[in-house]
Amino acid sequence: MHIHVQPDAAQKLTKMGDVTLYEPAGDAPQSENQSKRVPKNARNFADCISHVQTPTGAKPILKTMVTTACEKNCYYCPFRAGRGQTQRLTFKPDELAQVFDDMQRAKLVDGLFLSSGIIKGGVTTQDKIIDTVEIIRNRFQYRGYVHLKIMPGAERDQIYRAMQLADRVSINLEGPTQERLSALAPKKDFNDELVKMLQWAGEIKRNSPHRLASLVTQFVVGAVGDTDVELLTTSERLYRQVGLARAYYSAFSPVIETPFENLNRVAPQREFRLYQSSFLLRDYGWDVEDLPFVDAGNLRLDVDPKRAWADLNLRDRPVDVALADRMALLRVPGIGPAGADAILKARRTHKIRDLADLRKLGIRAPEQASPYILFQGRRPPQQLSLFDEAF
Ligand code: SF4
Repeated sequence: MHIHVQPDAAQKLTKMGDVTLYEPAGDAPQSENQSKRVPKNARNFADCISHVQTPTGAKPILKTMVTTACEKNCYYCPFRAGRGQTQRLTFKPDELAQVFDDMQRAKLVDGLFLSSGIIKGGVTTQDKIIDTVEIIRNRFQYRGYVHLKIMPGAERDQIYRAMQLADRVSINLEGPTQERLSALAPKKDFNDELVKMLQWAGEIKRNSPHRLASLVTQFVVGAVGDTDVELLTTSERLYRQVGLARAYYSAFSPVIETPFENLNRVAPQREFRLYQSSFLLRDYGWDVEDLPFVDAGNLRLDVDPKRAWADLNLRDRPVDVALADRMALLRVPGIGPAGADAILKARRTHKIRDLADLRKLGIRAPEQASPYILFQGRRPPQQLSLFDEAF
């Protein structure tokens, strides 16, 4: 790729490559970096650009770090202190802001995700992140998508400033409890550092008369015995208490020359089931206790959690589309918030008689709902599945 940017900065970006591979930046984290999850030897400049789903559509985004040096020693992380294989590179705020501006003027990127290793503490590092984006917003007048990491130990005023400058900020818990976090990252403190920062961010957002960045967190899933019930209980608490916009779940993947290099990779399907469950907690009015955990607090990998719940609870007691309230409709596989609202509205003027009527209301796959619903007290005709036909 030929670009007109400062050569030193472009070289640094090329050497850094996809340094934020395991840190999602947008609204479709599972598809964000799928193509990049294949290890390769050669790096090129395009590796620092990811296609990310943002609130205003899919965009190419510069995902990078202020520095790849770090004084902490999180067991899973390629940037941990003392790891010889990591090339340590650092941007000055001016330099990074300039290369971003060059890239966005050349239409190579339209958005920034900025993270960092920690050097001289979280406060100093956070200042560098903020300084970089101050230049991008104020000197270069960039108004597009910016997602910033908040460093462990950052001060309340820094969080406020970051939330003014960005569209989204991440305060990553990494583990769902102090015990799990200590097993992942011995120098991070769950309550006094990370939960406290999330609470500050929640308060700042609640009390601000102005629009501020949304708040997200991320968990490293499956390296240290953490269970789905632990991860989702903490996610639920954050949705309810600090107004978390979303939780990211990053299936653990071992990195060579780290203490966790011999641990097994966690199946991406686990990540997927956690996202499905997390949305049930956030958008569908479910509580953690509703989720169908099996096997010592984990979800089944082979079935959508909503369908697993419906198989246990609705096959013998189906929901009548003519009578059910919104919460009951949201329990039905295939019916989401928009579908439930469309049913309630349509019911005021006419009867909903069959699956075709549901489809006309915008419910894309009403056959998913079919085993769990009634129309005016009558079950819809069931289509035989391929499995049923074969046997
Ligand atoms: S603080 Fe961040 S960059 Fe540093 S070792 Fe831990 S996870 Fe890696």
